[in-house]
Amino acid sequence: MITSILPTYSRAPLSFDKGEGSWLIETDGRRFLDLGAGIAVNALGHAHPALVAALTAQAEALWHVSNLYQIPQQKALADRLVDLTFADTVFFTNSGTEACELAVKMVRKYWFEKNEINRAEIITFSGSFHGRSSAGIAAAGSEKMTKGFGPLLPGFVHLDWEDQDALSAAITDKTAAIMIEPIQGEGGIRPLPDHYLKDLRALCDKHGILLILDEVQCGVGRTGKLFAHEWAGISPDIMMVAKGIGGGFPLGAVLATEDAASGMTAGTHGSTYGGNPLGCAVGCAVLEVVAEPGFLADVSRKAGTFRQALEGLVAAHSDVFEAVRGAGLMLGLKCKMTNSDVVSAGYDQHILTVPAADNVVRLLPPLTITEGEILEAVSRLDAAASALEAA
Ligand SMILES: *Cc1c(COP(=O)(O)O)cnc(C)c1O
Repeated sequence: MITSILPTYSRAPLSFDKGEGSWLIETDGRRFLDLGAGIAVNALGHAHPALVAALTAQAEALWHVSNLYQIPQQKALADRLVDLTFADTVFFTNSGTEACELAVKMVRKYWFEKNEINRAEIITFSGSFHGRSSAGIAAAGSEKMTKGFGPLLPGFVHLDWEDQDALSAAITDKTAAIMIEPIQGEGGIRPLPDHYLKDLRALCDKHGILLILDEVQCGVGRTGKLFAHEWAGISPDIMMVAKGIGGGFPLGAVLATEDAASGMTAGTHGSTYGGNPLGCAVGCAVLEVVAEPGFLADVSRKAGTFRQALEGLVAAHSDVFEAVRGAGLMLGLKCKMTNSDVVSAGYDQHILTVPAADNVVRLLPPLTITEGEILEAVSRLDAAASALEAA
């Protein structure tokens, strides 16, 4: 008999009823160190006082109004994002995959307005993840996500992630845009080298096509910059954001330049809940903390500590782990043993990590994690690896 919850997830037998900073507390009282952070969502940890205050104050005042009216919290968050990034304009969604939908629509409308209606192909890459909507799965294109769900939304050209030569050859007069994650998350914490991102920007400029970056997982401070592409000194035309921006409240956004967004006039797109006062009040509070002087430098400093300790862990357990990869506090342990076994062994040591493709275990702690908690995490991973070796 089917379960009351549609059984699309295989869930660990863990149930949490409270969160405090980097910790999740099981209903039986056990405290788990949370290196998953709701898959890079709880950027400021659990129950951060500034976020609780922002949400509570907004909840007491007003939850929802339609986008038929002015929403000051939405304007404040959009203004802040425009101040802090390449973007001239922002549309708010409730999730990453909705941001993907709009990014695709925006690109199509851009070329439609230029009377280039055949220019509707978006180049995407193997191992990528852009969400579970029809556009998102068609964009990523992996069999795992698309099998059985055809016919798929047309207009995506899938290239091998590593094959840079194939990319310039693939650009034709049908190419509208390139969509890519600066660091693949679900794909196994695979960072694009900075020079490759620079080359991508140059290639897009050369052909006059749009660059869409999916920073849903790697954005909002995770790499030690507000957005990961800043490390390469380039900017996209369109950027998808979600996860960390809401700190746990469902919130996403599409950021764009004025030019890229030029087709999106009144009536061309909308959302009932996107940009609601609750989400935007929390989003403003998240950005206030992340954009505080010193916050991102602190993320980078802690990331250095973490990475160094993880290199030691890998060296000490070469039967379990192969390598550390990633950037900032978006780290992956490439495993020799099966990654899901490593995650399970972590549960026994009361530490939460997240599996990813390519046999990787993801470490995506709250950006507010302390040095002490980082060392505690490595010690628990060490115990988990020792248990696996002894088994
Ligand atoms: C999680 C994720 C998405 C999808 O976000 P949802 O909020 O789950 O729809 C899209 N792109 C990337 C890179 C992600 O990590």
